Amino acid sequence: MRRKLFVLGLDSAPPRIIYDEYGVELKALKEVVGGSARYLMRSCHPPITIPAWISMFTGKTPGELGIYGFRHRKPGDVRESYIVNSSYVKFRAIWDEAGRAGLRVGVVGVPPTYPPRPVHGFLISDFTTPGPDKAYTFPPWLKREVESKFGPYIFDILYRSHEKGKVLKELMEMTKQHLEVVKHLIKSKDWDLMIYVEVGLDRLHHAFWRYFDKEHPRYEEHSEYSRVIPEYYKLIDDWLSEVRELMPRDTAIVVVSDHGTKAMKGAFVINQWLEEKGYLKLKEKPKRQGQDLSSDVVDWSRTLAWGWGGYYARVFINLEGREPQGIVKRDEYESLVEQLKRDFKGIRGPQGEKWDNKAFTPYELYPTVNGDAPDLIVYFDDLSWRSAGTIGWDTL
Ligand SMILES: [Zn+2]
Repeated sequence: MRRKLFVLGLDSAPPRIIYDEYGVELKALKEVVGGSARYLMRSCHPPITIPAWISMFTGKTPGELGIYGFRHRKPGDVRESYIVNSSYVKFRAIWDEAGRAGLRVGVVGVPPTYPPRPVHGFLISDFTTPGPDKAYTFPPWLKREVESKFGPYIFDILYRSHEKGKVLKELMEMTKQHLEVVKHLIKSKDWDLMIYVEVGLDRLHHAFWRYFDKEHPRYEEHSEYSRVIPEYYKLIDDWLSEVRELMPRDTAIVVVSDHGTKAMKGAFVINQWLEEKGYLKLKEKPKRQGQDLSSDVVDWSRTLAWGWGGYYARVFINLEGREPQGIVKRDEYESLVEQLKRDFKGIRGPQGEKWDNKAFTPYELYPTVNGDAPDLIVYFDDLSWRSAGTIGWDTL
């Protein structure tokens, strides 16, 4: 029989939890990692869930894929956006290549794999799936099999919520369901390569990191919530112990993460900064705090650049010929981009502290630039600060 390969994708698992046992006791994961070759993986630019996983499994950069995040700007508008899905992925993933070589594959939860595309084996799509009422499996009948045993599939939870008790309950419910489904697939299907990505870890870190990481600027010891991260890892770890017994002994196991996790210190309001610096002109003063930047408040006849929030900032130049009311001439583009890069790198923190900012053009990062790429990709203080696109705040 062929040797099997099982890939466990732990979304946003930081190396220090896996390697240094940073407050988490691991058994099966430690056995797998400890008895194996370890490689330090560099995430892609930008180091976020979409595009990181699909970049890993296609071996293509976000530039080649034309995927720079979850949302993409519709050309010609400020706020209008589209969400990428599997149809935007124009390269073969490792499971496609394996299938072509005659191997049977299983894919669960890899973003973005919705809508599901045919594979030589089976596939359950990822957190970008609109809901369990959609067709989310290949073959299509796999959905019925999954639901008859485990109920409607849970793709994601609302994790940006102050109701932490509810988040915790839903997170556990979702993850336990996924673990049961994958266990069932491991046992009952014929496969040579199986890839399972659990996005629950990312949601876990978002919701509970500040109760866990003592270096978090707003760290809080909490009788219940401070135990959530260690308990969640233990759940995954116990499951791995169990499913290893279901696989042939010589199965190769790979544990991978798409990017790390760190404490978020705050948000930097990029459009407000661009306005202060004169790159962005508004027709009127913002009416309220936290207002979204919309096309009608921007004075396009005098605006050079504007930005988008997210974890990293995307900056767009109001380029003539590309933007509906573009004013920046092609021959001024390069020098404007360079000037913006210099200005971004010089931005300091609220107390005047030095920040480790990075600003790249997509051409510096990728061999090819496809799709709706931003003109600049900016990280504030090595991503300790996120970027927000809203305006009308008292401070930056
Ligand atoms: Zn991720």
